Amino acid sequence: MRELGIELPILPTTVIGSYPRPRWLRQMIKQWSMGRADDKALNEAFKDAVSVVVREQESVGIDIPSDGEMWRDEMVEHFAARIDGFRFYGPVRVWGNNFFNKPAVVSKLSYREPIVVKEYMFLRSVSSRPVVKVTITGPYTIADWSFNEHYGSKEELVFELAEIINREILELEKAGALFIQVDEPALTTHPEEMEWAVDAINRVTRGVNIKLGLHVCYSDYELLSKYFDRLSFSQFALEFSNRGHRDLEILSKLGDREIGLGVIDVHNKTIEDPQYVSKAIEKAMRYIEPEKIYVNPDCGLKLLPRETARRKLEVMVSGVQIVRRELLSRGFERIVLRG
Ligand SMILES: [Zn+2]
Repeated sequence: MRELGIELPILPTTVIGSYPRPRWLRQMIKQWSMGRADDKALNEAFKDAVSVVVREQESVGIDIPSDGEMWRDEMVEHFAARIDGFRFYGPVRVWGNNFFNKPAVVSKLSYREPIVVKEYMFLRSVSSRPVVKVTITGPYTIADWSFNEHYGSKEELVFELAEIINREILELEKAGALFIQVDEPALTTHPEEMEWAVDAINRVTRGVNIKLGLHVCYSDYELLSKYFDRLSFSQFALEFSNRGHRDLEILSKLGDREIGLGVIDVHNKTIEDPQYVSKAIEKAMRYIEPEKIYVNPDCGLKLLPRETARRKLEVMVSGVQIVRRELLSRGFERIVLRG
C-alpha cells in the first residue's frame, strides 16, 4: 500500500456517505418538480445543503466528512441517469410501499461526462478537513438493480459498467480526490456470481493511485471475507453494530488492509452511548491493529431524523476519544492515509 502524504489522528472518524436531507431542501426539490422553483434556485439549495451537512459533521468532530449525498435521490438511479444507454420506465415497487425508479439498459453503455466530479469539487471547497470521502455506486450493484435489455449476460453488463466506473474514479483522482468509497451492497446477494463479480469490481481500481474503500452492508460477511485477499481495495467499510459486534473475528483475515468499522446502527433511532462505541473498538482491536481502524456508522444515515443522525455521530466521536486517550498512553497518536 502507498502512503498518500496526509496525516490523520489515530482511529480516523468518517461517515459511509448519505446524511438526512434538510427539510427545507426536500421542500425545495418538491417545489422544483412542480415547476415552482427554477434550476438556479435548486442548485443553490443543493450547495447550501452540502455546506450545512459538512459543517454539521465537522462540528461534531468527524475527520473525513462526505457531502451527505445531498444531490442524489437514490444510489443507483443517480449513476444510471448519467450514463448513456440507460432509460427509465417509471417506478417499480420494491418493498412495502417503497418505490424505486429502476433503470433499464437499452443500448451499449457509454461514459457521457464526469458523473460526480462536480459534487466532489464542491465538497472539497467547503470542507476544512485535509481528506473528504466521495462515494460511488459499484458496477455490480448498478447492474443487479437494473433491467438488462441489451447485453447477452449480466456478467458482460457488469464488466462494461466497471470500465465506466473506473473512468469516473480516474476523473475524480485527476480532480484531486484522495479517498473514494465504492458501494456494493448487492455484492453477496448471488453467491454463485461472486467469482466474476470480484474480478469486475477490481476492474474499477485499475490505474488508480488514491485511497479506495469498499462498502458492503446487510451482507454475508463470511462469504465476503473469503475474497478479502482478492479484492484490490485498501479498506473495507463494514457494518458491525447492527449485528451486535459479532463477526468481528473476520477482521483477522484482512491482512494489510484496513477496516472502516461500523459502530452505529443506522436502522435504530436509539442513540448509542460513547461506552458502547469504545467497547466495540476495543473488541475489534483484538483482531486488528489500531492503525488499521477507521470508525464510521454501519451505513448511510439518510433514513434517520436529522437531529438523530447528528447526535449519533457526536456519540461515535466521543467513543473514539475514549479509546484514543488509552492509545495515546501506548504511543499511538497519528496515522498516515494509505492508498
Ligand atoms: Zn450501506
